[in-house]
Amino acid sequence: MADQPEKQKRQSQLERVITGSYGVNHQEILEILAVFIIGVHVFMMFMYHIMGVWELSLYNVIATAYYSYCYSVVREGRVSRGYLLTFLEIIFQMVLTTIVIGWEAGFYTYVIAIIPLYYYISMFVMKNGDRIFRPMVWSLLTFITILAAYTIGQIFEPMEQLSLVQGSFAFVFNLLLSVQLIIWMSHFFVLGYKKSLDTLADQNANLDLEASIDPLTKLYNRRTMETALDAALAEAKKSGALFSLVMADIDFFKKINDTYGHDCGDVALVGVSEILKACVRDGDTVCRWGGEEFLLLVKGNRSVATTVAERIRSRIENNIVEYEGNQIRFTMTLGVSTYAPGYSLEKLVTQADENLYFGKEHGRNQVVSTKPAVTSTVSHIT
Ligand code: GH3
Ligand code: MG
Ligand code: MG
Repeated sequence: MADQPEKQKRQSQLERVITGSYGVNHQEILEILAVFIIGVHVFMMFMYHIMGVWELSLYNVIATAYYSYCYSVVREGRVSRGYLLTFLEIIFQMVLTTIVIGWEAGFYTYVIAIIPLYYYISMFVMKNGDRIFRPMVWSLLTFITILAAYTIGQIFEPMEQLSLVQGSFAFVFNLLLSVQLIIWMSHFFVLGYKKSLDTLADQNANLDLEASIDPLTKLYNRRTMETALDAALAEAKKSGALFSLVMADIDFFKKINDTYGHDCGDVALVGVSEILKACVRDGDTVCRWGGEEFLLLVKGNRSVATTVAERIRSRIENNIVEYEGNQIRFTMTLGVSTYAPGYSLEKLVTQADENLYFGKEHGRNQVVSTKPAVTSTVSHIT
């Protein structure tokens, strides 16, 4: 895949499956599993040939071909079918080997070993249509086959008698492989689960970010600012750290929309946002409070906030927005308020708002930090 990280591309398929460092790819896992099982059956083919059990040697030739088919099924992307074929073979093999060399050879351990495989499939591979992987079906099937194999083993003499050494070897070999199957399928289950959790955490982080930011200007939205204000108020009460608010509103913004169109208004809003961000220091917070109104949380006293506000006013006044060949100028009016002991956030916002509207009523394009207003040049968009 083109968007896979560089490091993943450099890793071999086996490495990826074993370490799971880039999560689990179900198809890759089963491909490796099928190759591994083919290897096991080739080994068993020789093992039973040496032991003189021709029935099982022959069966393992067939099983090798069967898993080669399985591998091709998985390569085509039919992963569920691949797992189903694996399940069926393990159950069939248990019954067959019990008939041929007896219960003691320990083939029943494979049936127990496919339990984590069932977990894995149910959680990650199963699609709505895979009804065959329902727990009732599988618990019943494994119960019946284990019971059948055990009963056969108890009632009938095995077709082939293994020596004590051969029988012990077969048992230990089967037990060892079964335990390996349990460990590795549990490992894949855990990797798959971890990957799901990581994906969920990423999605939550993205959602949090989206919910805290205004989509047009990419500034924080009102909700985020309210959280920042709460924190600033708590800090001020605790340590006496002063903070101020600057409420800023574009002058005659409606005219920009009416004259040049709403899209042009949007471009102007984005431009204003850039200027606001550039005019504050780290630790200050800028948000789009609503429409064409912005609120700044400035760490510092009235004088600091007034300086910031004046810098903004001046930058906006000298800023030119280019839109479809038009050069648009506009101004901004800003109201300042500063925290004092006993102030509530509502009072602070109201005071900044009142100062802003005092400025609007007294000529716009100015910063009002305390009434009466300190007025600057008055100009209107042209
Ligand atoms: P004043 O100097 O008194 O502030 O005048 P004004 O025209 O700026 O004020 P008014 O509140 O009458 O108009 C604000 C306008 O802002 C009206 C609204 O359509 C526009 N507006 C609000 N949000 C957006 C937006 O996201 N994009 C655009 N293009 N316009 C917006
Ligand atoms: Mg306005
Ligand atoms: Mg307004």
